[in-house]
Order: sequence, then C-alpha cells, then structure tokens
Amino acid sequence: MVSERAGVLRPTWAEIDTRAFAANVATIAALLPPASRLIAVLKADAYGHGAVELAQMCRPDQVAMIATALLEESLALRAAGITLPLLVLGPMDDAALETALDAGVTPGIPGPEELAAACRVARHRDVAIHLKLDSGMGRMGVLESELPAVVEMINATPRLRVDAVYTHFANADDDLDPFTTTQVATFDRMLAAMRQAGVDASVHHLANSAATLRGIVRAGDFVRCGIVLYGASPLLRSSDSALPRMQGVMRWRTEIARLKDLPPGHGVGYGTTFHTTRPSRIATLPVGYADGYSRQLSNNGEVLIHGRRAPVVGRVSMDLVTVDVTDVPGCAAGDEVVLLGAQGHDVITAEELAAKTDTISYEVFCRVSKRVPRLYT
Ligand SMILES: *Cc1c(COP(=O)(O)O)cnc(C)c1O
Repeated sequence: MVSERAGVLRPTWAEIDTRAFAANVATIAALLPPASRLIAVLKADAYGHGAVELAQMCRPDQVAMIATALLEESLALRAAGITLPLLVLGPMDDAALETALDAGVTPGIPGPEELAAACRVARHRDVAIHLKLDSGMGRMGVLESELPAVVEMINATPRLRVDAVYTHFANADDDLDPFTTTQVATFDRMLAAMRQAGVDASVHHLANSAATLRGIVRAGDFVRCGIVLYGASPLLRSSDSALPRMQGVMRWRTEIARLKDLPPGHGVGYGTTFHTTRPSRIATLPVGYADGYSRQLSNNGEVLIHGRRAPVVGRVSMDLVTVDVTDVPGCAAGDEVVLLGAQGHDVITAEELAAKTDTISYEVFCRVSKRVPRLYT
C-alpha cells in the first residue's frame, strides 16, 4: 500500500492517502450550489498531513484557491511549484505584503491595521486583497464600528482592489445555535453599508467545513474548508445520514517492539498507575507523546492489533506506549498496530481520540509531530 519507505528507519509512520483527500475534495466541490467554489484550507501543513503533497492533488476545476494561515506556508507551496491562487488568512506587515504580492499570493486582510499597510503598499503597486469582516467572532476582521474608516481608506486608494469580502463563523459546528444566522445577518448588513459607500466585491466567502456541510452557502459564494477534506466531521451532532461520507486521509501506525508476559499484580510504566490483575501479555510500542500520542491516553486509549482493540495500560511516556494484548491471540513482535485510522473492520477516528483527550480532531491531527514520517500513497 505504501509506495515508498525511503529513508524511514523507525516502524512508526503516518500513511497519507492522497486519493482519499482528492475524493473528499471532489465530494465537497460537488456539494456546492451553482457558481460556488471551494477554497481548500491547507494551513499548518494541511493540518499535519503535508501541504505540498495535498496541494498537488488539488485540481483547478475543483479548487479555486488554497488558503494558509502564514505567508511562509503559501511561499512553501509556491516554491514547490503550486500554481493555484493562494490566500493568506493571517496578519502581514508591509514587508510581508510586498513578499506576498511578489509571489502572487493574495493577502486576506484581517483588520484595519493590515488594510492600512496594504494601502501604503498600494501607493506604488497594484494590490488585490480579500477583506475580512468580524461578524461576531471577536477575533479577526473589521468590526462594524470600524467600517466607515475602512471604507474611506479603500476609496482613497485607487490601486487597491477588493476581490472578495469574507467572514468566519464561531459556532457553525452546532446546528442548534442560532448565532450563525446572526453572523450571516451582520455580514449582510456590513456588505450593504460598504456597497452604499461604493465598495463592492464580486466574491464573498463565509462558510467553513461545518457551515458547508450544513448547506449554509449561497449560490456564488466561495467556501473555506479544512477539516472535512481530511475526513473528520466538524459537526457536534453528526447523526445526519444525509451528510456525505468522507474518507479518512491519515492512518498512523506502528509495530509491536516487544512482548512481555507479566504475572498478576505487576506494575506497568511510570508511576505504576496500572497493575495486572491476571497473567498478562503486555506489548510495548515505539511511539510516545513526543510523537503526538497524547499522555491523556494513559490508561484510556485503545489501539488496533489484528483488527481488534487493545487498551493502553499505564502511562504514555515520551517514546513508548504499553498496551494489554492478553485478549488478542497470536501477537508477535513486528505486528502492525494502528493508533489512528482503519485496520480490519474497525477504525479509530480522530474524533474518538479527541473525545478521549478533551480536544477536537483538528488538534489530534496537528499534534502528530514532525518525528513521525509521512508516507504518501
Ligand atoms: C481554519 C480556517 C478555516 C477552515 O476551518 P475548518 O473548520 O477546518 O473547515 C476557514 N476559515 C478560516 C478563517 C480559518 O482560519
């Protein structure tokens, strides 16, 4: 299944299924209303999956733009030969703006200060931006109260062009929370005020993955999707069978390094937080919290071996994890162990690991550290 293991010595790696990613992109693109287009969010190295490799799977007929948080991330994509339009969501100063424009990267201006910088740059060159409005999240974007000054800046800068206006939802994962509707109304009111003052943009984008899955997308609007392209659901309540089935992209696996038969009453790991209660077979895995396997999975997580679940026993340490394989017959050193993803008929999802570690699937993916090689299939 893995095309190459060149240079990978350790048996712990993350398989990245680029075809599954491409299929997820196609599924989302097909879901959009007429004239709507997908902005693929590949920030933070594509949520730990590898931005260059996944950007190479983005077809211009399905992906209008790729968004990153940092300029560095977009520049790395350009340097790797990615020719799709790129959008930087995070803040940039004058020098960074110049660098972005030189590389053909669109600044996603997140506030009045960054707009002022863009206007300074636009004194000597053409500058096309996406402008972010704060429709209620209280984080990035131009506030409604700041709109008059912002419009004045734009109107006073002939070489500045606003290609798109956008906003971000705070609670779109919760279908029972009416705040998303409030945010849409605020965004529309701000757009109307801008239009009245002579500032318009041909494109608007509001929806993240959750809003896109929930159909909170108007014809012609772009959407910015991240998590759903990696096969995880952003929705608090995912029971809706009408939702499209997304495919898992990351499969994190290792192998049994050592098997040990312990008598009843034997401690396992730091703090001896686990004691065997029966003759037990304990497998040690060459992976730990330094790889991003959360210490909160101590005496809490499960892994897949021979398609069966085996519980993590004892503390997760920096480089090692111990699991109880007493009930998994026929285990041997070198057997494959899946930490995240499918094996046999079972699957450990990012959502499952997130629930057990008091976080969200986004952080589960991002936490898989640089020490874990990514192998692309
Ligand atoms: C990260 C991000 C997204 C993507 O969010 P998902 O929930 O992963 O789809 C969209 N827009 C902005 C501004 C973001 O920062």
